[in-house]
Amino acid sequence: MTTLTFDSLNPATGEVVGTHPRQGPDAVREAVGRAAEAAAWWGGLGHPARRQRLLDYKAVLTRHLRELSRLVHEETGKPVGDATLEIVLAITHLDWAARHARKVLGRRRVGTGMVGLNLAATLEYLPLGVVGVIGPWNYPVFTPMGSIAYALAAGNAVVFKPSELTPGIGVRLAELFAESVPEQPVFQAVTGLGETGAALAADPRIGKVAFTGSTATAKRVMAACAENLTPIVAECGGKDAFIVDADADLARAADACLWGAMSNAGQTCVGVERVYVVDAVYESFMRELSGRVTKVRAGEDYGPITMPGQVDIIKRHIDDATKSGKIVTGGPGSVRAPYVEPVIVEDVPEDSPAVREETFGPTITVRRTRDAQEALELANASAYGLGGTVFSRNTRRAMELARRMRTGMTAINSVISFAGVPALPFGGVGDSGFGRIHGADGLREFARPKAISRQR
Ligand code: NAP
Repeated sequence: MTTLTFDSLNPATGEVVGTHPRQGPDAVREAVGRAAEAAAWWGGLGHPARRQRLLDYKAVLTRHLRELSRLVHEETGKPVGDATLEIVLAITHLDWAARHARKVLGRRRVGTGMVGLNLAATLEYLPLGVVGVIGPWNYPVFTPMGSIAYALAAGNAVVFKPSELTPGIGVRLAELFAESVPEQPVFQAVTGLGETGAALAADPRIGKVAFTGSTATAKRVMAACAENLTPIVAECGGKDAFIVDADADLARAADACLWGAMSNAGQTCVGVERVYVVDAVYESFMRELSGRVTKVRAGEDYGPITMPGQVDIIKRHIDDATKSGKIVTGGPGSVRAPYVEPVIVEDVPEDSPAVREETFGPTITVRRTRDAQEALELANASAYGLGGTVFSRNTRRAMELARRMRTGMTAINSVISFAGVPALPFGGVGDSGFGRIHGADGLREFARPKAISRQR
């Protein structure tokens, strides 16, 4: 029997990076079956033994850092340095999950507060069994590892469906896990396109699906999961706002804004896409920003657009923004697929697609606001609610704005810094999804609470 295959391509050169099997429903069913057996063994190992194996895996990944960075660079096109950074951050999360699982999930006594009854109680968090992880291509190690590491640390087996654009790195992550856990297929990757993810989501033996991708696909995954009442954590898109208040350090704000918008060619779920600057500092901030943006170059500071179809969306948004707004830098000519030069446009109407929809490219819209309150209202008038940023030297006001921002995470006087901190939960509200990965909440996301009361 011939096995159907597909190629992963280097988006910068078009060269074939690797050839992978198209694993359909049968192959997925078999992988889930193997995972179910492995889950019984792995779940029964106990926290100390799992912690050691996960720390061994950390050592294996660290030893292979150079090889893995190269592979991420080839499959996504991003600079090798950026690839290394995402893997180092992923390893940081793996280390945290391994070291904290017992404390967060292990058995503890709970006070019962039952008057007149001599009742004891314990609470612990048990594994779900098999977790299906469906991941995106933009951070093909950091993003799925935010689910995989926490699911494994909680005692589950994992079947991972990497994006069809980055299958090689997904397969390699699973292969390397087998070096630290050779006994059972506790962590497997299945590759394919068009049917593989759906087969995984539809398998009734899956205890939870951890999906990271677009909002539209999340709805399809949820519909498939609904058949079996399979719970899902959905990490979807974003349209993050960046607020510059009157007393902000404008040089730092401009640095952060550009990095947050342009790094990874803007292909970041928590990338900066909308900038709101209060009137009092608008001109000064724009001077800082435009002075810097001329030094940023596609192909040098960041790589190509990884997914060919995304270029059309970026182009549509740039056309829309430049028709209705005022160009600060770039324009329709900035798109030279697969590269897009930075684009900044002012005064784009808030109801236009360039402001409302996720662009996922190195483009931002900037708007002048009366004050920080108006900036916050505009920031919150989005269907998305993933991350956001506030720049202000007034800590009290910055905290207040950050708390009232309708997002899962907000950074103050930095950008996207919350994502790297393993103890902080990561996730959004509204169209950005629900459930949390990372941190103690991320560990509990992949476990079920077990309550026991005992009459003494
Ligand atoms: P996508 O196109 O929405 O998702 C692609 C993945 O979903 C593929 O692996 C695909 O597998 C699978 N899939 C498609 N239909 C499915 C179905 N009916 N059931 C189960 N799986 C199905 O996303 P993407 O383009 O890879 O990623 C970009 C998006 O991810 C952006 O919106 C970005 O903001 C978001 N993102 C979010 C976060 C976060 O943490 N919030 C992080 C990174 C990226 P098949 O090929 O087998 O169909």
